[in-house]
Amino acid sequence: MATVDIRREDTVRVIAGRDKGKQGRVLRVMPAAGKVLVEHVSIVKKNVRPNPQKQIKGGIAEQEAPIAISNVQLVCNTCGPVRLRHELRGEKKVRVCARCGMTLDKE
Ligand SMILES: [Zn+2]
Repeated sequence: MATVDIRREDTVRVIAGRDKGKQGRVLRVMPAAGKVLVEHVSIVKKNVRPNPQKQIKGGIAEQEAPIAISNVQLVCNTCGPVRLRHELRGEKKVRVCARCGMTLDKE
């Protein structure tokens, strides 16, 4: 299994599939499935049954569907979508942009 380099709160660009070109924030990473949930990407409509106990009204809800991690690329603030490399900064392994060398990890 490939290492998952995408983390929650990362900004990613979709590079393949129906939502190619879209960009969003990672809401959830599912390493076992090799998928990520990206905000406003891969929206599906779901029928929701009303559940008064949980204060849920019935109807149609829009929801993100998981997409393959291989279909997204991490976005560098200066370069856009990039490949990343790993670097040791002191004791810490950080993810850095393969183009400009800036760290892509949020402190
Ligand atoms: Zn960069």
